Amino acid sequence: MCMEIRDNTLYFDGCDTTALAKTYGTPLYAYSQTALEDRFRALHTEFLDKWENTRAAYAAKAFCTPALLRLVKDAGLCVDVVSGGELTCALSADFPAERIEFNGNNKLPAELELAVESGVGRIIIDGLQELSLLESICARKGKKMKVLYRVTPGVKADTHDYIITGKKDSKFGIPLDEDIIYPAIKAAIDSPWVDLLGLHFHVGSQLFEVRPYLEALEVVLGLVKETWTRYHFAMTELNVGGGFGICYTDEVPKGYGWYLDPLMERIDTFFRDLGLPRPAVVTEPGRSVVGEAGITLYTVGSIKDIPGVRKYVSVDGGMTDNIRPALYQAKYRAIAANKAEAPATETVTVCGKCCESGDVLLRDAALPTLEAGDTLAVFSTGAYGYSMASNYNSNPIPAVALVKEGRSGLMVRRQTWEDLLATSCNPGL
Ligand SMILES: *Cc1c(COP(=O)(O)O)cnc(C)c1O
Repeated sequence: MCMEIRDNTLYFDGCDTTALAKTYGTPLYAYSQTALEDRFRALHTEFLDKWENTRAAYAAKAFCTPALLRLVKDAGLCVDVVSGGELTCALSADFPAERIEFNGNNKLPAELELAVESGVGRIIIDGLQELSLLESICARKGKKMKVLYRVTPGVKADTHDYIITGKKDSKFGIPLDEDIIYPAIKAAIDSPWVDLLGLHFHVGSQLFEVRPYLEALEVVLGLVKETWTRYHFAMTELNVGGGFGICYTDEVPKGYGWYLDPLMERIDTFFRDLGLPRPAVVTEPGRSVVGEAGITLYTVGSIKDIPGVRKYVSVDGGMTDNIRPALYQAKYRAIAANKAEAPATETVTVCGKCCESGDVLLRDAALPTLEAGDTLAVFSTGAYGYSMASNYNSNPIPAVALVKEGRSGLMVRRQTWEDLLATSCNPGL
């Protein structure tokens, strides 16, 4: 739909990708606005319109720029931020503060100050220590905040260990031990400075199963029931996190309804049986909103054929613009954008330009014979690419273009070498 091959050339949302590479330079992140709007619409039709009293908060950490957050805001979604920087980005995109939700396992005092000051809609707190810190800030500012507790449901999802968050041994959330979770809940119920709405969990990322969500939900529902029994306190909001899987190579993505309908049905039944009104339900998709809507364009440079070993094709970016292959062996699919109809004739390793042997973007990729100057397009780089980009080797962070129906513009300009010096100081010793 957004990807099309014409005249041996890859088109992305109506734009000739080789022309994009010429206009904006490479490496270039390019996002299809049409694809983004499709995902926003899917959240509405498959979840928000289907179930009353629900919200979707886009997890900004997947890709966070003011231009993108403006689209998210215009689509009527909420946003989930995890730092003062992301919060500032959301505020600069004129996101209404009440539609901003603040997550994180170690929110800094200055970040909480900004959150309270700007009046964000939810703070998802990670434990008693954070509750105390937040209370002191609220007391000082004379403001009461709406909060949820993030709990560690202790379920194991089938994904890479680095992107599992819901298992018991985790830095995220409150462990379920009786003498930890209930005192924390009671303290929030009794606090004059916070309005405890409910509980939050997030089991992991790039998931293709409903089971871990249902297991985590069951744990959280148990807490809801026990809280009702012990304190006669009814939770009014549940946040079921994000983590919905996308296609990188051959995965088949499921719709939002495929994951969320079974959860909603279980929640409905549970609260009917308990005789309490069904709480608001919030989901926090990140990757599934932006992942497939983004591609990265590179220019091929040095090519090294090591006889009997492997052929390395180097591009002008690498782990600095996409750390995922080096960090957790993430797989991607690529094509030669200027030879889009040429058959794959070789198996090559596409590597970056950084001084790290692990700086590999694609291992054993089937591609046509590439030459220096060719444009390589890597698919599904829209999530956790730009947002995890670094200046390693003092490589400037690439530009980000937004394209729609043949038109294009920059969301972020390319860093310059001068930008790299902008924060340097003379210590004057
Ligand atoms: C990362 C994260 C998300 C989004 O996860 P995706 O896999 O990108 O959908 C949602 N909620 C929390 C708390 C997260 O940490």
